[in-house]
Amino acid sequence: MAGFPLKGETTPTIFEKSESGRCGTSMTRTDVDTVPLSDLVPGRHLRSEPARLPEVPENEVVRHYTELSLKNHHVDRALYPLGSCTMKYNPKVNEATCRLGGFAGLHPFTPQASAQGALRLMYELAEMLKEIAGMDEVTLQPAAGAQGEMTGVLLMRAYHDANGEGTTRRRILFPDSAHGTNPATAAMAGFDAEEIPSNASGRVDLDALRENLDETVAGLMLTNPNTLGVFESDILEISRLVHEVGGLMYMDGANLNALMGVTRPGDMGYDIVHFNLHKTFSTPHGGGGPGSGPVGVKKHLAAYLPVPKVVRRDDGSYGLDWDRPESFGKLHGFYGNFGVMVRAYTYMRMLGCRGIRETAEAAVLNNAYLTVLLQDDFDLPYGRGMHESVFSGTSLKKRTDIKTMDVAKRLLDYGFHAPTVYFPLNVPEALMTEPTETETKEELERYAAAMKAIAGEAETDPEMVATAPHTTPVRRLDEGRAARQLDLKWSFPEDAEA
Ligand SMILES: *Cc1c(COP(=O)(O)O)cnc(C)c1O
Repeated sequence: MAGFPLKGETTPTIFEKSESGRCGTSMTRTDVDTVPLSDLVPGRHLRSEPARLPEVPENEVVRHYTELSLKNHHVDRALYPLGSCTMKYNPKVNEATCRLGGFAGLHPFTPQASAQGALRLMYELAEMLKEIAGMDEVTLQPAAGAQGEMTGVLLMRAYHDANGEGTTRRRILFPDSAHGTNPATAAMAGFDAEEIPSNASGRVDLDALRENLDETVAGLMLTNPNTLGVFESDILEISRLVHEVGGLMYMDGANLNALMGVTRPGDMGYDIVHFNLHKTFSTPHGGGGPGSGPVGVKKHLAAYLPVPKVVRRDDGSYGLDWDRPESFGKLHGFYGNFGVMVRAYTYMRMLGCRGIRETAEAAVLNNAYLTVLLQDDFDLPYGRGMHESVFSGTSLKKRTDIKTMDVAKRLLDYGFHAPTVYFPLNVPEALMTEPTETETKEELERYAAAMKAIAGEAETDPEMVATAPHTTPVRRLDEGRAARQLDLKWSFPEDAEA
């Protein structure tokens, strides 16, 4: 079953391509005496039968995975304007550094004295994040944004517990534009998650906030620029109000693309912030792969951060400090996803201070340009955002019956990934578009031309748009089923029948 599948055929798995006796490489026989494996590995750890590995020549392996990689859209193919997710291009130098033997081959139990380079990298990465966010301490442990949020909310709990208010401060507030992980995290940590409405400009409604604030509030979780891409220009007043009743300010900093090098959450009154290294700091993400969600805090919360903390000792060496009696404990196996940290560190060192600011400026400029190109064809209920803008397909739907989901699917035929659709929840038919700083003017224009063409097709050939995509390996998927009934494991036919 080797070879490229014809249209309509499903691609065989690498196991189905296997032919007994085929081999990827041919090496000369060694003339060194080898020790039998059973002398090296205790018998109980040895397989009774050889592993059933696919036997495929090297060129077929490369073709197989290249073909699979082209079945999906990814940022190495074209623009991927998935708002809030920051699908910026991942520089390949990041991959080169994280594969350096000293990093990639380092065992997490390596004695600290032999892991100085890795510890130093983690220490310096945390220092850079502190500076960017205006925070006093940073932990690198959380493995994703959502786990960073969990860390932040556990810090809130530890802080209020220490002040004897752990049982009375039960409420965490968030605006109706918030990312779904905010209320989910608050609820998982045992708090009451309470939504407050946005005003007509898409910002936190200060009156609604005031009405909801009292001594039962543990904190406010607020993204800035918020999930509509709109900067919360009342942020100093919001922070003052929350602090006045003894609450804490949590910034969902998953996406710092508009801010970094320009302004800092710490200066806006936030007490806690999480970063998504896999968004702002260019490491690859999607499909559940490894991420990193470091958390920065102000001094009054530092004692509760998870153990261990990476420290620089007086003699200039680096180490892990477990002696933090007020810490809420350990959060993640070992110290987090180290490979992701190496990538983010590389990205930040490549950019330098000025480059980081220019990145933010370019992200905002790219979005401004793209927004202007599209604003005549799609509604823009809350106006142009900073690094992302939330369009709406409401008028298009009224005119043509073509929904945002149809536009998203049709974009695939033009070779682009769709923007984030139907989020944030407070925008009907939402198309949340984030071009990122890495795209050229021409690529933005190509994307805008595709969007305009689709708006035209919605008028002239709505049936074709409503049944898109037409050129992809699979047509419209049942997305609910695809997400809920995953079938990720291939079985040998003889096992499946048994
Ligand atoms: C992506 C995102 C998160 C969650 O981050 P994960 O790493 O996917 O867990 C939280 N908040 C916002 C605003 C985000 O964009």
